[in-house]
Amino acid sequence: MTDILHYLNESPTVFFILKKKVNRWELEYVTDNVVNIYGKSSIEFLNGKYYHEDFIHKVDLKKFTEQASLISKTDKKEFTYEPYRIMKGNDIVWINHTTKIIRDEDGLVSSYYGYITDITKQKELYNKFTATSNILDSSFNNSFNFILLLDSRGKLLKANQTALDIAGIKEEAVLGKYYWELPWWSHYPEEERNSLRDDILSVVRGSCLKNHKIYYNKEGKRIESDCSLTPVFDDDKNVSYILCEAHDITQTINTKRSLDQYMRIVNENVYISISDLKGNILEISDAYCRLTGYNREELIGQKHSIFKHPDNDSYIFKELWNTIVKGRLWKGEHRNVKKNGDVFWVENSITPNLDENKRVTGYTSIYNDITDKKEISELLITDYLTKIFNRRHFNDIFGTELKRSKRDNTNFALIILDIDYFKQYNDTYGHDSGDKTLYTVANTIKHALHRASDFVFRLGGEEFGVITSNIDEDGAKTLAQMIKKSIEDLKIEHKNSQISDYLTISIGIKLVKPESILSKNEIYKLADLALYEAKTKGRNQTVISQTDILA
Ligand code: GH3
Ligand code: MG
Ligand code: MG
Repeated sequence: MTDILHYLNESPTVFFILKKKVNRWELEYVTDNVVNIYGKSSIEFLNGKYYHEDFIHKVDLKKFTEQASLISKTDKKEFTYEPYRIMKGNDIVWINHTTKIIRDEDGLVSSYYGYITDITKQKELYNKFTATSNILDSSFNNSFNFILLLDSRGKLLKANQTALDIAGIKEEAVLGKYYWELPWWSHYPEEERNSLRDDILSVVRGSCLKNHKIYYNKEGKRIESDCSLTPVFDDDKNVSYILCEAHDITQTINTKRSLDQYMRIVNENVYISISDLKGNILEISDAYCRLTGYNREELIGQKHSIFKHPDNDSYIFKELWNTIVKGRLWKGEHRNVKKNGDVFWVENSITPNLDENKRVTGYTSIYNDITDKKEISELLITDYLTKIFNRRHFNDIFGTELKRSKRDNTNFALIILDIDYFKQYNDTYGHDSGDKTLYTVANTIKHALHRASDFVFRLGGEEFGVITSNIDEDGAKTLAQMIKKSIEDLKIEHKNSQISDYLTISIGIKLVKPESILSKNEIYKLADLALYEAKTKGRNQTVISQTDILA
């Protein structure tokens, strides 16, 4: 008997006996292990210090009492309560409570034997399992993916709602059918259905298959999918199920196709290049390769400066870099050089490429070939014989520079230069030599000037104009002297000139102060009068106009 008691005390189940004593129930026996569940000793219970009911969780108490009162009325020999909670201090313990009902000869309950077992662990496991299985059910049915569960022979056990909706069918219609007979692939030709059967065979042998599958929905729309067939193994490592999952990628594929097509068009037709932060070319369109005469391999990894024209204004490239390193768009026009040395003009828009943290990672340049446009506008302002600016451009620049110097509060100067005895030159050396000399004189004047605000024009015949600003009278005289000397230094023979053995020029200057109210016409006439004076005074000299009054 003591042995049995020992075992009872060791067991996870508390055993107890309740006996009827006149008008109340009294605990007659309880195993010592009661302390494990209630945290109170068997002695304390036996001395009536505690009652089982004191420990029942208050939410479950009413249900317990209802069930307890039922017991006396039932004719059952044994009764199991619905699992309920008791409090062990602050902890909740779930218990399973079974009671044996002992009756006397009159059929009245005389005592109860009871067993109480701690089922907290099982209960937690059960709750976890129910939650997991609810999650699985819900994600199975609500998944955007098409999911089929097959047995190890490839027969359909379950199809999720998405799969059923696609085909517009009920699960009953397809349950038990073989994978290769399912309606989603009804359009497949015979040999492809056979390959579906082969797929199942290889999955049963343990392989995972991933392939691109096409199926049709109930409206006959073609759906492209990434499809996987995966084996599910049991504890003995045998394949017990096969999971088929298909993910609709029609949209992605269509987007990719139209993007590819778009990129092909861009590549063929747009001049575009992508570079890293240092200006090394990472990508370049075929169109731009064709334009520049290089092939891709020659350009990838090269610096963008491979196209740079040596005469480009370095200022615009400084401004370009200053703009794009700050992550801003730069737009401008500049010259570039092709592989064969030909020069072309581009209108360049450079967009910085930014990463997700808005940091610049590189640059995309899109070019427009504006060589034709540039050539036409160049042609419109260039004198055909001397290649310096023509009279048309003189009229424009005269106006804008005069206004600008007034705005900047600086002096403005118009200088008119005329070759002396050029009629005789032509008569002596011929018209062709005259043309060549005009070209030489024009470009000598041009190269004698250095400031960005100096302009040289052929005004007509053998007459040239220079526009300059921010200059005083001495400066203007020095400038004129310098030009005159540069022509004399050419030592172009002119044996029929009446004043020199070489070609000379006469110069008239009108210097205009910013407050002057002289019109363009008046300035021109005053400079022309000064030139006339230089001619009448004997040529090969400079006269600076000292009056604002026109005779
Ligand atoms: P002056 O010292 O008074 O200026 O004498 P000039 O002979 O230079 O003056 P004029 O105005 O009488 O003659 C200008 C000459 O310039 C007339 C023409 O033969 C020559 N000329 C004008 N345009 C051209 C041109 O395009 N080519 C050539 N070769 N000669 C030109
Ligand atoms: Mg002349
Ligand atoms: Mg003349």
